[in-house]
Amino acid sequence: MAADLYTRYMAASDQWRAHRKGCPPCTDGRSRCADGTGLWERFCRLQDAYLTHLRTR
Ligand SMILES: [Zn+2]
Repeated sequence: MAADLYTRYMAASDQWRAHRKGCPPCTDGRSRCADGTGLWERFCRLQDAYLTHLRTR
């Protein structure tokens, strides 16, 4: 399960960074587009879940 969580966390991170690279509003960070907001929230959720998992291991 942990490896799966890490894989999803990394995938979300890659997707978010790939999007941000080609999206000036998201690179700026102050006015994310709708797509970027969804990717960002998914990344944050998985990051929280992963870090919580590390802390509670
Ligand atoms: Zn964007």
